[in-house]
Amino acid sequence: MRVFNIESVIDEFETLTKSAGHHQRETLRKILEQNGKAEYLQNLGLGGRTDPESYKVCVPLVTHSDLEPYIQRISDGDSSPILTGKPITSISLSSGTTQGKRKYLPFNEELVQSTMEIYRTSYAFRNREYPIGDGKALQFIYGSKQVKTKGDLTATTATTNVYRSEQFKRTMKDIQSQCTSPDEVIFGSDYQQSLYCHLLCGLIYSDEVQFIFSTFAHSLVHSFRTFEQVWEEICTDIREGVLSSRITVPSIREAVSKILVPNPSLADSIYKKCVGLSNWYGVIPELWPNAKYVYGIMTGSMEPYLKKLRHYAGNLPLMSADYGASEGWIGANVNPSLPPELATFAVLPNIGYFEFIPLEKLDMQELESSLTSIHYKEAEPVGLTEVEVGKEYEVVITNFAGLYRYRLGDVVRVTGFHNCTPELQFIRRRSLMLSINIDKNTEKDLQLSVEAAAKLLAEEKIEVVDFTSHVDTSTEPGHYVIFWEVSSVSNDEILHSCCNCLDLSFADAGYVSSRKVSAIGPLELRIVRKGTFDMVLHYYVGLGAALSQFKAPRCVSQSNSKVLQILCMNVTSCYFSTAYEN
Ligand code: AMP
Repeated sequence: MRVFNIESVIDEFETLTKSAGHHQRETLRKILEQNGKAEYLQNLGLGGRTDPESYKVCVPLVTHSDLEPYIQRISDGDSSPILTGKPITSISLSSGTTQGKRKYLPFNEELVQSTMEIYRTSYAFRNREYPIGDGKALQFIYGSKQVKTKGDLTATTATTNVYRSEQFKRTMKDIQSQCTSPDEVIFGSDYQQSLYCHLLCGLIYSDEVQFIFSTFAHSLVHSFRTFEQVWEEICTDIREGVLSSRITVPSIREAVSKILVPNPSLADSIYKKCVGLSNWYGVIPELWPNAKYVYGIMTGSMEPYLKKLRHYAGNLPLMSADYGASEGWIGANVNPSLPPELATFAVLPNIGYFEFIPLEKLDMQELESSLTSIHYKEAEPVGLTEVEVGKEYEVVITNFAGLYRYRLGDVVRVTGFHNCTPELQFIRRRSLMLSINIDKNTEKDLQLSVEAAAKLLAEEKIEVVDFTSHVDTSTEPGHYVIFWEVSSVSNDEILHSCCNCLDLSFADAGYVSSRKVSAIGPLELRIVRKGTFDMVLHYYVGLGAALSQFKAPRCVSQSNSKVLQILCMNVTSCYFSTAYEN
């Protein structure tokens, strides 16, 4: 067994971040040298120069749509150096839930390497504060479908590309994070059956489990909501040593049956613990008594699931995982004891070249005269070590996978420095979601409104299970529609006041003034049947998204007709705001 030395990983990180500026220049040099032959770079007149100054002058800032024609040629099988020196052999598919469209992105070995480096770094810091013993991890992870592109490249989610690599297995062993489930469960062809077996295998090894993980908090909450439905069946399986007939995929059945033996005393103990819980509070520490924490991405669009996750986790700490995207990694959580709401990510200066576009809010006058797509004043991008504490930026990455000056579309705030590298707080996706005329609301604004209105329901012990939004311009004037799935039925009066509260909570000046003069119609709250968001999830997984990488779409556009149809067909009641009526 290889020995993983926590202190040396931390020391390496400290050295690296002390000379972050130097590592940035070096990383850019390496990227440009490795890929200098690439057609994209050849056309920009860099002429072999690799310094940041020339790079910024010659290479334009791009978004995904600028790169699409190049990525298209790669996936069509053109193996000439297009974006990278070495040909790209795999494609990653982003979840597509943020923009409604799945993005194709280049994937290569360097991305596996940087993933492992991020995992090792944050593990070292985590383990220093919350040491785990020898054991396993209950990981709700899923490989998604692999498809072949026209040019015979494999295309799948970035996490699947990582999980399939040999490096991943080795690193998981090094950092004591081996999954309780066999590979057949992770890569099973039916995510519902895989989820059931993750829970079952996690319970078979319950004494060994050191922590619980999924990529995103949504998937953790979804797993335990499912557990509430299937726990008795799981107990029966463990008691009798026979896998439930609901597991029909032969590879999953065979692999799980091998580790399932009759264990009536374990079944009894699980049964007793479950019936003893009050509304499933603290189910995680109860069933996994040696677990030290719950781990996964809990920031950004995952924040709405924290309340429920805390409920399941009881007294166990929640620890937010690192910050990255299908495009590449950005930073590691090196302050694991901070609560998820305050989590920050220290940028690793050797995994990419990073720039930051300073963003300043527009004032009211500028706001009124601006186009709806412009939300901020932008200044020239600055380098990693030039960012200022307290300011907000959009992240731009350049990395070994052939992405150059790529605008990630995420807004972050610098909260401080770890040595010379900034610590970033994830603020939101940059794009606007709700906008009819001069109003400008982001995902974060929606989240805050929903949180405010959900408080009225919480008094009735009812939860908002999930939510999304839509701009309805089929009526004149247009209006916002908010869809809610709630945990149990509430009365009309309360839901109507929730609707008013939602309307009033969109504090954006453009929205408020438009509402006052009826340039935007009353907000509409539509309640959907229980299980509707599971249907949306099911739809995305059917398209090839992975359950563990799923993010509920927070705004459904008219063009996303299938999802809109699922939502609209399941509406049980709707309410119009009277908040702006005099
Ligand atoms: P995807 O395109 O499916 O790979 O998702 C990547 C996006 O997920 C990023 O651009 C972020 O918006 C979001 N994301 C990833 N990691 C985090 C994190 N730790 N906190 C908040 N949002 C994150």
